[in-house]
Amino acid sequence: MSYISGLKCRECGRGFPAEALYVCDFCFGPLEAVYDYDSIASVLTRETIEKRQPNMWRYRELLPIVGEPTVGTQTGGTPLIRTDRLAEALGVREVWVKNDAVNFPTLSFKDRVVAVALTRAKELGFTTAACASTGNLANAVAANASAAGMDSYVFIPSDLEAGKVLGNLIFTQNVVGIHGTYDDVNRLCSEIAGKHGWAFVNINVRAYYSEGSKSLAYEVMEQLGWKAPPNIVVPMASGSLLTKVSKAIGEFQKLGLVEDDTKTRVFGAQATGCNPIADAVKSGKDFFKPVKPNTIAKSLAIGNPADGFYANRVITESGGWAEDVSDQEIVDGTKLLAETSGIFAETAGGVTVATAKKLIEQGRIPSDDSVVLCITGNGLKTQEAVADHVGEAHAINASIDEFDALLQQAEPKTEPLVAA
Ligand SMILES: *Cc1c(COP(=O)(O)O)cnc(C)c1O
Ligand SMILES: [Zn+2]
Repeated sequence: MSYISGLKCRECGRGFPAEALYVCDFCFGPLEAVYDYDSIASVLTRETIEKRQPNMWRYRELLPIVGEPTVGTQTGGTPLIRTDRLAEALGVREVWVKNDAVNFPTLSFKDRVVAVALTRAKELGFTTAACASTGNLANAVAANASAAGMDSYVFIPSDLEAGKVLGNLIFTQNVVGIHGTYDDVNRLCSEIAGKHGWAFVNINVRAYYSEGSKSLAYEVMEQLGWKAPPNIVVPMASGSLLTKVSKAIGEFQKLGLVEDDTKTRVFGAQATGCNPIADAVKSGKDFFKPVKPNTIAKSLAIGNPADGFYANRVITESGGWAEDVSDQEIVDGTKLLAETSGIFAETAGGVTVATAKKLIEQGRIPSDDSVVLCITGNGLKTQEAVADHVGEAHAINASIDEFDALLQQAEPKTEPLVAA
């Protein structure tokens, strides 16, 4: 049973069939999935959802596939953690962390978008998956394509972190590092996509891919006890995740799955070294200036963001805001999350935490309120970014005397186990 009624141009509203189309023939606007919400409302209740398996497909009526999911069937269902220690450090009443650093199978929220993109790509008859990626998307495409028996080609900037490059090579030899920025990679891939019959998840099947992001926000609302959060901070690369978080909240309100009187303020987070969307929001412009990225937050380094215009609009209309943070603040944010909450996030997580800190200090997120932070990727993939900021392990021989000497050098932090 399918609830997708087609695709629609986000600019002129013209309708298109649910095929591998992504731009409007008439005005070049991007296409978006459209659903039959009346039919969905008659089947998708809280009780139905709660009876299903704890993964992203428990909301399958709201995802743009026709048959049953065949790729990423275990993806999603990540923890939402209340962290009072981080709340105290940030000076806000309540903090929830949505932890997609432990998403299955490749430890980032990109597994969600790829699960939808490849399920739909298979339905449309594609046998090869491809992408232009800042790192995590490539990992998710390579892994999920392998599991689905599809070929894959992944295109990345050649200077990515070692963990992200190896996280492709373990699945496929078709890893192409481009000397240039993500925006150069993306431009090349748009040419390649027209030439080969491949499903480029974020190009010709982007209308399906992008909808997968909604599942992160559906989960947050269900985990909050069927409530929309009053504030949510979302890291931005292309800006797609942020727009889909907002769409998901609107859908749950329309379907009566959450009370519709919580108005969610949506906040965007970027690195100062690549802040085209945050800059547009802060300077009150309804367009953005493309930039050449220079930041350790490589997963967010998109200088010409495809959904930047829409992300700006969502943020502004929701009463939210956007901020950007320096590389040093990103490292500090990553460490703060680790030390208060026991979560090792990648650089994008540092961006989100440090941006939240700034927004709370500015009073944009009220200190007596509750906020959800979207942690979208895993720190084990971006070790280079923090390696010089965490000190070194102590090396000693297996000798109790050497250990005692070591303890004496450092101030003991804990009470002795046995009272003297
Ligand atoms: C891709 C990515 C994002 C942002 O994605 P967009 O939808 O392009 O804005 C955020 N965090 C991480 C870790 C990512 O890999
Ligand atoms: Zn159009």
